Amino acid sequence: MRLRLPQERPAEPPTGYKIAHPVIDADGGSAGFLGVSLGAAAPYKVLDEARCVYGRRHRAPHRRCDCGFHCVYELRSAQGMLVQAEYRRAALLEVSVLGPYIRFEQGFRYGRQRVRSATIGPCRCGAETAVLADAGWGRAGRLALEGVCAGCVGGRPRWTLEAFARLAGDGLRVRAAPGVGPQGVTPGMPELAAEAALLQARLDWFQGQLARLGRAMGGGG
Ligand SMILES: [Zn+2]
Ligand SMILES: [Zn+2]
Repeated sequence: MRLRLPQERPAEPPTGYKIAHPVIDADGGSAGFLGVSLGAAAPYKVLDEARCVYGRRHRAPHRRCDCGFHCVYELRSAQGMLVQAEYRRAALLEVSVLGPYIRFEQGFRYGRQRVRSATIGPCRCGAETAVLADAGWGRAGRLALEGVCAGCVGGRPRWTLEAFARLAGDGLRVRAAPGVGPQGVTPGMPELAAEAALLQARLDWFQGQLARLGRAMGGGG
């Protein structure tokens, strides 16, 4: 009888969380993601298989290697990674862990993955993301994208969240995390005073115009 290591056989693929940059092919033909740290070596599609990052001829994940996809068990752990300056523009992904996996302290290392949803953080200005725009960098023939609001996007190449989801395919859902829009900002005293001064100036101008019109029509004033 051969002794085997205990193997888990879950009824449903486990769920995990990770962060990655949304990327699009330079020709705009298909979309996917580029991981951070070790995962930054190879972009992946919504439904994809990991290859050994060291080019070794084994299937990922291999026990004596650290290749394969990685994700964490807790949403909070993934959100925690997003606070680091270099990862601020990354998206938060919810994934299904497919096929064999290896557990580690905080998550899974595994060979096949389906990205179920991507949540795009607010624009740098704080407003809710409206589009995914060229982030100004790229890797392996892919253009990195970041969430930008309608007011900040300017002339940058951009894709709507729906267009990105369509190009990524395989049922990916893409949504924008709530931001702080102009509606959501409560103006402070200086802003209110400035607004009042502007309104007063407009009113003065309007009254001046009315008076001039009155004189022109022979009403005297
Ligand atoms: Zn490997
Ligand atoms: Zn903005």
